[in-house]
Amino acid sequence: MIKDLLRRSQHRVIATLISYIQQIGKGDFRPNFVAVTRDSDSTLVPLIDALEEMRKNLSSTYHNLTLRGAEYETLLSSMQQGVIAVDAEERIIKLNSAAARFLNLTDMHARGRSIVEAFHHAGLERFVRAVLKSNSFSETELVFVMQEREFIVQASAQPLALDNSGKRGAVVVLHDISRLKRLEELRKEFVSNVSHELKTPITSIKGSVETLLDGAYRNPADALKFLEMIARHTDRLDKLIESILSLARLESEAKVDAHNFEEFKIDDIFQSVQQICRDRALARGIQLELTCPPELMLQADRMLVEQALVNLVNNAIDYSDPRGVIQLLAISEDDEIILSVKDNGIGIESKHLPRIFERFYRVDQARDRKSGGTGLGLAIVKHICQVHGGYPSVESVPGKGSTFKIHMPRHYF
Ligand code: ADP
Repeated sequence: MIKDLLRRSQHRVIATLISYIQQIGKGDFRPNFVAVTRDSDSTLVPLIDALEEMRKNLSSTYHNLTLRGAEYETLLSSMQQGVIAVDAEERIIKLNSAAARFLNLTDMHARGRSIVEAFHHAGLERFVRAVLKSNSFSETELVFVMQEREFIVQASAQPLALDNSGKRGAVVVLHDISRLKRLEELRKEFVSNVSHELKTPITSIKGSVETLLDGAYRNPADALKFLEMIARHTDRLDKLIESILSLARLESEAKVDAHNFEEFKIDDIFQSVQQICRDRALARGIQLELTCPPELMLQADRMLVEQALVNLVNNAIDYSDPRGVIQLLAISEDDEIILSVKDNGIGIESKHLPRIFERFYRVDQARDRKSGGTGLGLAIVKHICQVHGGYPSVESVPGKGSTFKIHMPRHYF
């Protein structure tokens, strides 16, 4: 009778334990105190203890895995690079949001679909297929179009072991390198422009020296002519190299250290610019007029501001008819100090204005090079404005004249 009771009670506990194990099997790791009540039957206590131990271990492993999965998801979705994982059957198993953007898809739509269905990008499809076939690291450059803009993307892929079957998928990383490519193009263009600009004076100097050596030095008039030509072109080389160096210096510092700025009267700077440019202006019968409130101050790198104004005034002299007037004006407007240089010279057609501050941009290559300029003057002005947190602007009417302005922020600190 007692034995019977005991067996029945054991059965009840075992049945409860089975349902507890089923609960854990479904991923519910909450402790079940009813099930693990220890005073039911001493013979079952070791089993209950072992079960409790297993529940705790499983619970903590599950918790850690969930946490790691969330970390991995956050990492993938915050990556700038697109990441796509495909299995050996060319089906997408993972795709982060950057990759979905490149492919104009949503993660939901892509998962489980084949690359032919999902990609709509023949180049990427071919690339992934080749990687799956070769089973080795590969790299290529692809062009993507997003919102009507072209992006150059570096795609690199690694084989991916997914199970023990020996079949391998692949993980592809897409890295947008459009900006790097553009910079590379600009650098190439700059080097080619510099070489071209240097070649012109060097060819002339070389030609003159050869002519002198061939006997022209014996005739004093010829000798003088060729020496003057050499002097002119050496001067040009000197100016060009000086401009390239100052541009490189300005570009190497995105913003000059504001703590090195001095506060000075703009009127003082106008006076020194007038002095520097006086001879050149006089030689062409051009007048310089200065208008500046006597107490108007600017906090800036004085030498750089002076250099920018000299560049603008020299241009105004070069591109004005003789006997013109050039006005330098300083005003304070809202949060800006505006320094302007106004001429009544040849002016610039509006189609050139958006590119006028680019390095080596000239309205008329042949004519403007003859004027002795380097094609870098306005690029230097732009950079001087930028390192102060300011910007340049220009208004111009062909045949009437131009006004170049330097806009400087009034407060730095
Ligand atoms: P450059 O050394 O050739 O003068 P800049 O960078 O200073 O080079 O100027 C670029 C081009 O802008 C010049 O070649 C010229 O065509 C045009 N330009 C600059 N300033 C003036 C101006 N005040 N009037 C008319 N054209 C100008």
